[in-house]
Amino acid sequence: MFHLECIVCGQRYGAEEVVYTCSRCGNLLDVKYDYKLLEERLSKVDLKRRPLSVWRYRELLPIKDEGKIVSLKEGGTKLHYCRRLGEALGLKSLYVKTEGDNPTGSFKDRGMTVGITKALEYGFKAVICASTGNTSASLAAYAAKAGITCIVLIPSGKIAYGKLAQAIVYGAKIVQVKGNFDDALRIVMELSLKGKFYLLNSVNPYRVEGQKTLAYEVADQLGRPPSFLVVPVGNAGNISAIWKGFKEYKRLGFAEATPKMMGIQAEGASPIAEAVKLGLSEIRPVEKPETVATAIRIGSPVNWRKALNAIRESGGTAETVSDREIVEAQKLLARLEGLFVEPASAASIAGLRKLVEQGAIDKDELVVCVATGHGLKDPDTPVRFGEPPLEADKTLEAVVKILEER
Ligand SMILES: *Cc1c(COP(=O)(O)O)cnc(C)c1O
Ligand SMILES: [Zn+2]
Repeated sequence: MFHLECIVCGQRYGAEEVVYTCSRCGNLLDVKYDYKLLEERLSKVDLKRRPLSVWRYRELLPIKDEGKIVSLKEGGTKLHYCRRLGEALGLKSLYVKTEGDNPTGSFKDRGMTVGITKALEYGFKAVICASTGNTSASLAAYAAKAGITCIVLIPSGKIAYGKLAQAIVYGAKIVQVKGNFDDALRIVMELSLKGKFYLLNSVNPYRVEGQKTLAYEVADQLGRPPSFLVVPVGNAGNISAIWKGFKEYKRLGFAEATPKMMGIQAEGASPIAEAVKLGLSEIRPVEKPETVATAIRIGSPVNWRKALNAIRESGGTAETVSDREIVEAQKLLARLEGLFVEPASAASIAGLRKLVEQGAIDKDELVVCVATGHGLKDPDTPVRFGEPPLEADKTLEAVVKILEER
């Protein structure tokens, strides 16, 4: 029912083989299905009878045995209509998909439910990943649920506190690497080739299949795909996965159109946005990526080729935002809509603001912004950049006085 295919040379790999990248040319792999058969078998009406979740779309996921699925009830996240934020940005139909609603607080859970299920199918007893935080939190939770070992490599000192707490409490073996995310990823990729650990970074073609369900959900929730989908980009697995989801949704006859994919990167870590803007065919990796948005602090995104393709094929574009703009957008979303998201997620709001100002997105368009992770993941950032609480003596008069002053 499915197989893997190299995105560059087209080499095919069977579902039984454990492969992460093409052994012929080294490029990434994509999961391919028999879409003709699926189109005959699946109807949108039938799918919509099932609860909104990753596994609503199980026939479109690369799983052999439904009985072996490891799930924490991921997906089915809310799509908020944001009237006040829309007004502030100059948009009539703005929606925010809050992926922080997922079991461990980020979209990574969509991928890990599929990834861990594959690890068990292949008979692995241990899984491994490099992480800027959310991947490790998610993988650790799913490994715990499955009863297998989880090893995570994180860049030392650069991961948000809430995410570290999660990996610790779920019982992962955590190794801090004295380097950045790109260094940690290089090491786990080499380690996984030794065969003992199943690699669950976004090079893994099965993990990102789970992430594509965000596209199906958005289209199901709105009744059609939006005109624009705005998403923050780090390692670029998510934008690639979401684009695949929208393409499949159309291919199955569930929709007539696909959205333009708008990728947002932080200024200090923006090789994909640079390639899009300059029209380069390859990215130029950033040696020392820097941004307050640690989840997208990645200089050498492994999925760059898929992401450039997603942006170009969809007719979308990419934009960069500064740390100040990210922090500002985080406040704006919280204060106008009551939604608290982590800095990387706020980057999509900051980017959207710029795109509307530039006229790249018209005020009448239907726009969905993906808020990738929950704000409580990184409580330090708003405290560091926000106004400190007022302080008063322990009397009624003192409190009244200070409130009047403000
Ligand atoms: C992982 C992550 C991203 C980046 O996703 P990529 O697939 O690496 O581009 C963005 N935001 C949050 C909250 C994340 O956890
Ligand atoms: Zn190849």
